[in-house]
Amino acid sequence: MFEPTEDQQLVARTVREFVERDVMPVAAEMEHRDEYPHALVETMKELGLFGLNVPEAYGGSAIDYTAFAMVFEELSRGWMGLAGVIGTHSVLCDVLTRFGTEDQKRRFLPGLARGEPRGGICLSEPNAGTDLQAIATVARRDGDGYRVTGSKMWVTNGRYGQVFLLLAKTDPDAEPAHRGMGAFVVEKGEPGLTVGRDIGKVGYKTVETVDLHFEDFPVPAANLIGGVEGEGFKQVMTGLEAERLNIAARGLGVARAAFEEAIRYAQQRRTFGKPIAQHQTIQAKLAEMATRIEASRLLVYSASAKKDRRERCDLEAGMAKLFATETASEVSLEAMRILGGNGFSTDFPVERHYRDAPLLLIGGGTNELQRLIIARQLLEKHAID
Ligand SMILES: Cc1cc2nc3c(=O)[nH]c(=O)nc-3n(C[C@H](O)[C@H](O)[C@H](O)COP(=O)(O)OP(=O)(O)OC[C@H]3O[C@@H](n4cnc5c(N)ncnc54)[C@H](O)[C@@H]3O)c2cc1C
Repeated sequence: MFEPTEDQQLVARTVREFVERDVMPVAAEMEHRDEYPHALVETMKELGLFGLNVPEAYGGSAIDYTAFAMVFEELSRGWMGLAGVIGTHSVLCDVLTRFGTEDQKRRFLPGLARGEPRGGICLSEPNAGTDLQAIATVARRDGDGYRVTGSKMWVTNGRYGQVFLLLAKTDPDAEPAHRGMGAFVVEKGEPGLTVGRDIGKVGYKTVETVDLHFEDFPVPAANLIGGVEGEGFKQVMTGLEAERLNIAARGLGVARAAFEEAIRYAQQRRTFGKPIAQHQTIQAKLAEMATRIEASRLLVYSASAKKDRRERCDLEAGMAKLFATETASEVSLEAMRILGGNGFSTDFPVERHYRDAPLLLIGGGTNELQRLIIARQLLEKHAID
């Protein structure tokens, strides 16, 4: 059973009201124009959505993981791209909160909690995504700081964000490679950092995803997270664990949105003298969709509850991410079928959900990788020797 507390319900209700009042009426048009949602982002700042996982001592609200997931579900029900504006920003906040030095937390977290500046993460490169140990970006020691050289690809929030979590090699010869990596906070401003092109995408539009190029870019040693080299890979991986849950919750939100559209339409559209909802084939689809959504909900919120109890939940979070995002993809396609030709039309929101859903299969660790991680943990858990 998932029974949210009053506080959790209040958080979800606040975001739902924002989404229904401000987001849903404009999402389709803005998304098709690929227009950045500046005004909506301002309201998100006022609602405190940039400081959800920042401790109160540094200006955030530090809500629990369950409420955090509920925020991502509600935002994604309206517009998944908006969840993207706070998604990687939250990963940066998470890694800083957990591993940053006191000085780093004091310098960065209060601003990030207000959404001024906003953040993102620079991990993937043109030749390394799933296999992050294969990155080529290097942070070379230079006097009191480092000089970063390399190209990062797929940086969500890379144009309007100002502060990034960057993974780079501090010792390119280290074996295994992860022992020679550091995680840094990099800030725009110095010469040597160029924002490249906006990558064209089939969905997840509006939130920008760009290339960032570093050429001898200076980063103070004080920005090496935790002040230690060799820990970056571990720090980043822990941050991605938290991201898995927010991506699972986004899947739940997208699936819900597509289902709600489909079940409404099925009762209005008539063929052969009755609403299509009265045809058994359509009923079977609706039943299947709703069942998968309910199963996703239980997986997402049982994983978040475990995390809130400070229990290990990487297996459960992985399962939730896998199932809820596959569900988003399947349900949005089924919704499109239920709407018939209108499902394929840009006049209805289903086509947007259909285009947004596949990112969730890729981001936060692809679902292929997710299956491997789940299987590895199952084999550990059930080892016979
Ligand atoms: C819209 C968008 C936004 C993004 N935002 C960010 C961001 O803000 N910051 C950031 O750092 N990155 C970001 N990414 C990058 C994302 O994290 C990577 O695309 C993802 O990790 C996959 O890496 P890849 O694209 O290099 O695919 P690859 O790693 O090349 O994988 C290709 C295929 O091979 C499969 N595969 C790889 N290894 C294995 C294996 N061992 N076993 C089985 N199958 C395997 C993968 O599952 C995939 O199907 C974003 C991506 C997208 C599309």
